[in-house]
Amino acid sequence: MLYNNSFRYILLITALPLFFACTPQQEEEPSEIMETEPVSDVMTKEDQEALTPEEIIERLKEGNERYINNELTLRNYQEQVSKTSGGQYPEAVIISCIDSRVPVEHVFDRGVGDIFVARVAGNFVNEDILGSTEFGTAVAGSKVVVVLGHESCGAVKSAIDDVRLGNITAMLSKIKPAVEMTDDYEGEMSTDNNDYVTEVVNNNVQHTIEQMRERSSILADLEANGEIVIAGAFYDLDTGKVTFLD
Ligand SMILES: [Zn+2]
Repeated sequence: MLYNNSFRYILLITALPLFFACTPQQEEEPSEIMETEPVSDVMTKEDQEALTPEEIIERLKEGNERYINNELTLRNYQEQVSKTSGGQYPEAVIISCIDSRVPVEHVFDRGVGDIFVARVAGNFVNEDILGSTEFGTAVAGSKVVVVLGHESCGAVKSAIDDVRLGNITAMLSKIKPAVEMTDDYEGEMSTDNNDYVTEVVNNNVQHTIEQMRERSSILADLEANGEIVIAGAFYDLDTGKVTFLD
């Protein structure tokens, strides 16, 4: 009890000056925010049909530019929620790691109804994620699939270190092929070497894309017909920048 009381007292005396210091600023900020009208438009069927896969990749790159410049689009989310309640026409499917430092919608500056996002530690594909991607493209009309790896991926590092723990063991077996693909790496092949980890991350993205083509005739056909583009990308944890891989 004594601890609690003194803690509350400390909180009070430290919070009071903070409150007074903040008050004048709070009065100035709203007028600045009010100058920009929040975006309430959403992707329509017509928008989705009109865009080419190349244009969509360009739009994703532009969205990422806004993210790294701290210029995310101001959105009226409730309006977007209401406008998308009857249907969705997203432009892309993003397959990402679950890493909390890769907030996918923000990374590409996208709002409600804009993109499908499938997440699993280590951004690989299994039957379920392949099915989800087939739905996103063949059924729901998205024209781009992005497999997004990221710097210093914990799942990739665990695969390198051959971690064995519960269901994580089976999960990591899906990433192991990327470790084998990096066998010819010249240099220190350990998780202490960021460059090596990045190499495995990029090979994992490549392997995921190959798996899509091998295990999904729907995706392979859509790609062969030029109806979709499957692209790999790398997210830099230091800057937030997404680099599309060749
Ligand atoms: Zn990760």
